[in-house]
Amino acid sequence: MLLGHPVAHSLSPQFQNAALRAAHIPLTYERLDVPTDALDRVLAGLAAEAGAGNVTIPHKTRVAARCHRLLPMATRTGAVNTFWTEQGRLVGDNTDPGGFDDAVSDLLGQLPTAGEVAVIGAGGAAAGVLAAIEGWGACRVRLYNRTTAHARALAERFNAFTTVAESAGDALAGASLVVNATSVGLHDDALPFSLDALAPDAAVLDLVYRRGHTALVRGARAAGHRATGGLRMLVGQGARAFERWFGVAPDRDLMWEAVRDQD
Ligand code: NAP
Repeated sequence: MLLGHPVAHSLSPQFQNAALRAAHIPLTYERLDVPTDALDRVLAGLAAEAGAGNVTIPHKTRVAARCHRLLPMATRTGAVNTFWTEQGRLVGDNTDPGGFDDAVSDLLGQLPTAGEVAVIGAGGAAAGVLAAIEGWGACRVRLYNRTTAHARALAERFNAFTTVAESAGDALAGASLVVNATSVGLHDDALPFSLDALAPDAAVLDLVYRRGHTALVRGARAAGHRATGGLRMLVGQGARAFERWFGVAPDRDLMWEAVRDQD
């Protein structure tokens, strides 16, 4: 089950149900639209029924605060995107950083171990990106966000390798990987930064996904950069969630096939 508000747009049921069918697990993955004032009641009901599921905007932080036990990535990011029940109590993890790793590996062929990464945005998704990069080795991050105070607060939590940039251009200068972790481009062809600011060899990962790709991915590709949208990350976090719930790896190729027409 997916808890969020709104959730109607989510592609998670499409690939989770394909994986459940393939694994012969007689369950259905459903969306549950939960307004914030109903979240506590819904979580109490799910804990009583041995429920499990995913969490999306805007509930990831609140669910983290309500879990009895958090796995390390949920603690590090302060957010839960995957939960299950142990003896009537909720346990939370965050598989978004793992999904981000999957998308970067797919884009670059492997995870970078050094170099400059530009991260644009400072919300929950950016926190997951920084938690993933923390595990890569010696990469440095320059973080830019429209609201500087949000960038400063996030960079402070990852200050061993993250500094705040004054502008998107400053963040992008010399970065070999550029990540859009804002919601810009979700509903229109707006760009989160000027494509002219990309270093010649920069690869672009847009966490936003849209059928036919975002303007950022289309523009970066047209300018000769490697670029991809957020669908690989979505499927990657979902595959890792499936493993947490059932203790077995789902068929990832089949999950991807279930949504690839949305890429
Ligand atoms: P969030 O916590 O609400 O943060 C939104 C971020 O976008 C903030 O940094 C915000 O800046 C920035 N922003 C919003 N509108 C903007 C605008 N017009 N111009 C510049 N910056 C703007 O959301 P989130 O959870 O981080 O999610 C961000 C995006 O990532 C969403 O589109 C979401 O769908 C996507 N996402 C994808 C995956 C995946 O698996 N592919 C996973 C998680 C999230 P301020 O701080 O200034 O408000």
